Amino acid sequence: MKKYLIAAVVILLSLSLSACGAKKEESSADNTEAVTEDKNTQNNTNEPASELLEVYTSFYPLYDFALKVGGDKVNVVNLVPAGTEPHDWEPATTDILSLEKGDILIYNGAGMEHWIEQVTSSLENESLILVEASNGITLLEGGEEEEEEEEDGHEESGYDPHVWLSIKNAKKEMENIKEAFVKADPDNAKYYEENYIKYAAQFDELDQKFSTELSALANKDIVVAHKAFAYLCADYGLNQVAIEGLSADSEPDAKRMAEIIDFAKDNNIKTIFFEELVSPKVAETIASEIGAVTDVLNPLEGLTQEQLNTGEDYLSIMEKNLEALLNALK
Ligand SMILES: [Zn+2]
Repeated sequence: MKKYLIAAVVILLSLSLSACGAKKEESSADNTEAVTEDKNTQNNTNEPASELLEVYTSFYPLYDFALKVGGDKVNVVNLVPAGTEPHDWEPATTDILSLEKGDILIYNGAGMEHWIEQVTSSLENESLILVEASNGITLLEGGEEEEEEEEDGHEESGYDPHVWLSIKNAKKEMENIKEAFVKADPDNAKYYEENYIKYAAQFDELDQKFSTELSALANKDIVVAHKAFAYLCADYGLNQVAIEGLSADSEPDAKRMAEIIDFAKDNNIKTIFFEELVSPKVAETIASEIGAVTDVLNPLEGLTQEQLNTGEDYLSIMEKNLEALLNALK
């Protein structure tokens, strides 16, 4: 799409010689690898690079939805590197330079990207299309953790940003992304529409499977590491009790630990969930206290490089989440 490809390559090459360049180079390599792994983008090399929409996404689920809809008509770069938890991440100078040359920036919104306003208002790239993927989704209140966040100097919306953990909402985010691609690249509108329809059907099918299988279980309470699963719980009548807050890296105090342990004992909790990008230490402590096991419930805020390499995506990880929930609640 951009005419300045050669100039961009020269700039990126010279950046990679600087100190911050190393990080950027690494994250670009990660993303290239992930793109090659995706079966929909196998024709990428047959397309001249200048014909592709240059798409940036703020973190993993949006990256996956953009790849699904955009296929081989887009080049998608995920800003948050693989294996990095996105809540406290913010773009480096090299990311800003990339955004100056991009066509589209897709972000979640609902307070997830505390840097979005400052970064986008400082960009000189007037043709960059901003897509707030959560647009049109009914947001849930954030709860009391928001006050702590404000003390950290983060801009907070007062809402829970984890909308993508509802499969219905994830489909809506994918639809918003599709609409943006259609508008930015009308020549390929039919292609984007067809990809959307194909994946939307898979999302519907998985949503139905969650609904059927979870509704058959009497237990509804799950104990999770960070408070990411409210939208998922709302869809299937589950109740999350979170050890930590809305941000993934906060640590509970002794009082909170005691409350969780009491709750788990009173409610026959057999599994304490943790997530891969954050230390399982607290979950393990609580589990050993009550004789429970620990298991992974993935909030899909980021995949590890290994998961990307082996072709995991939103749908496959959500399948694993369903298995983990069924094991915990049976
Ligand atoms: Zn989170």
